[in-house]
Amino acid sequence: MSFAELQLHPSILKAIDACGYTEPTPIQEKAIPMAMAGHDLIATAQTGTGKTAAFVLPALQRLNVPSTGTGRGPRMLILTPTRELANQITDSIRSYGKFMRVKSCAILGGMPYREQLRLLSQPVDIVIATPGRLIDHLDNRRIDLRRLEMLILDEADRMLDMGFTEDVDKIAAAAPSNRQTLMFTATMDNTMAQLAQRLLNSPERITIAGKKATLENIEQRLHVADDLRHKNRLLQHFVSDITVTKAIIFSATKRDADALAQELYEQGHKVAALHGDMNQGARNRTITDMRRGKVRLLVATDVAARGLDVSGISHVINFDLPKFAEDYVHRIGRTGRAGASGVAISFASLNDQNYLDKIERFIGQPLPQHVIPGLEPTRGLRPKSTTSRGHKRGAPTAGRKSNAAPASRWSDNGAESGAGNGKSRIKKWGAPKTSKAVTVEYRGAGANRPSRRVI
Ligand code: AMP
Repeated sequence: MSFAELQLHPSILKAIDACGYTEPTPIQEKAIPMAMAGHDLIATAQTGTGKTAAFVLPALQRLNVPSTGTGRGPRMLILTPTRELANQITDSIRSYGKFMRVKSCAILGGMPYREQLRLLSQPVDIVIATPGRLIDHLDNRRIDLRRLEMLILDEADRMLDMGFTEDVDKIAAAAPSNRQTLMFTATMDNTMAQLAQRLLNSPERITIAGKKATLENIEQRLHVADDLRHKNRLLQHFVSDITVTKAIIFSATKRDADALAQELYEQGHKVAALHGDMNQGARNRTITDMRRGKVRLLVATDVAARGLDVSGISHVINFDLPKFAEDYVHRIGRTGRAGASGVAISFASLNDQNYLDKIERFIGQPLPQHVIPGLEPTRGLRPKSTTSRGHKRGAPTAGRKSNAAPASRWSDNGAESGAGNGKSRIKKWGAPKTSKAVTVEYRGAGANRPSRRVI
């Protein structure tokens, strides 16, 4: 299918063309016609599937018809869990709407109120907001939702996880009941279904791409680590590899992210930390630096990295495994974006076994285990006969080879990726650069974790 067949306005088609998109992704192909027909929609789609355009394009299309409502409030409201995601949506609106007259503004926590009040005092077409800050403005009657035509909830599951349920309900209640509501979520459980029941009106449902299909460009590897010290040695190995052109390293806590970034900086790497304790200006600067190649290694926590769209991230390294299995999918989705391929490396020690089990259950496949010669673990993970899907844990795959080519980027046939079957490509890692031993105080949480020592 082509974008032209979606009957989008010529100015939108021109912008899509300028973005270099040749065909709609599966979520776009399904969601755009339904949204343009005025239906409410629940779309289950992961990050990286092109879901942003799936709701931004119908919103822009609708703006071509003048509003019949009164007031200056937004015609479209996009709620999103994090500021980074909101900024990316704002950028997408700018790109896809560049041949139209569209007035959009972002209302986010961490931004000065004065500037937001100025923006909200003018007529606006699209507001992109995080729920907490929008509620402040709603409570103070600074935003008028009476002429709202479309309410879009992006990463709705994450908003609920972050405790925004009440805020989302309150915002929806302030909007006209005949509005159109589109809900995008990576996961669908009871709480989500209840939210949908409260806010949506006879919604159409779309489920795109099993979790596996969205990961198909990403080669996943598991490295078993004996302890924190072993993890540090593994990290040393990877950050010294020249094929790691741009990487995000995920740590469990903000303090760990700072400490790890500091250590890598002291070793001479172009590194920055990204976490929720940084103010928005610093977060934006860091992301821009990464986009421009000034930062090669970004040490981040989950909250800050949610929705991050930086092209050319070659590797995601889970220094610490995420607590929630769905965060694993979000994390590794930072690489392998827009048709590129990527590598996702996860370190796990025996203590992480439960998290690992949850992740493997969630993605429906065991993570293929790799070992680096000279950095073999002395202990294995808890032996398990089978995973939830009956797979035996893959033996270490170092030394095995596969020529499995990644399947089509946008295919949604749920096909098992090559990476998931122990068929991952094998990389000949260069010998790690040795750097002077530094011992730093371990400033992270968890009293029973040993001091971080970097070799
Ligand atoms: P998203 O899932 O919205 O975060 O999009 C993931 C990436 O896919 C972004 O970098 C988009 O620019 C890109 N993208 C979105 N739609 C298309 C398309 N139809 N063809 C190629 N790339 C796309």
